[in-house]
Amino acid sequence: MHTYHGSCHCGRVRFEAELELTYVSECNCSICRKKGILHHRVPPERFRLLGGQEVLRTYRFNTGTAQHHFCSVCGIHTHTNPRADPSQFTINVRCLDDVDLDALTLERRTFDGRNWEQAVKEWRERK
Ligand SMILES: [Zn+2]
Repeated sequence: MHTYHGSCHCGRVRFEAELELTYVSECNCSICRKKGILHHRVPPERFRLLGGQEVLRTYRFNTGTAQHHFCSVCGIHTHTNPRADPSQFTINVRCLDDVDLDALTLERRTFDGRNWEQAVKEWRERK
C-alpha cells in the first residue's frame, strides 16, 4: 500500500489515497468515455480530500446515484462515488501527481457501463 497524491489542473482540489496501483479501470458509459477517466477504486478510509472543498462541484445524471466530482475552476474530474456502491470512491488515476503513467505497466480493466445492470451483476458475481 502506497500513499499517492492527486490534484485537479489548477491545484485547488487536492487529495491523497492509499492504494496498490496495479490496475486502472476504464468505463464505457456516456460520461466516463467522454471524460477519459481512468478509475481506481478506494474505500472511504483510504481517501482524503486535502483541499478544494469550496470549488468542488458534483454532477449527477440518469438515476442520480453516482456522484461525479470535478473542480469548478478548471473542470478536471478528480473522483467519483460510483453508482455500483456510492459509499466507495474511485479516483481518476490521471490526476495523480506522483505517478508516471507511461512508465507503469498496469492491468487495464474495462467496465461495460453502457450495459450497467448486466455489468454490475457480473462484477458482483466475480467478487
Ligand atoms: Zn481546478
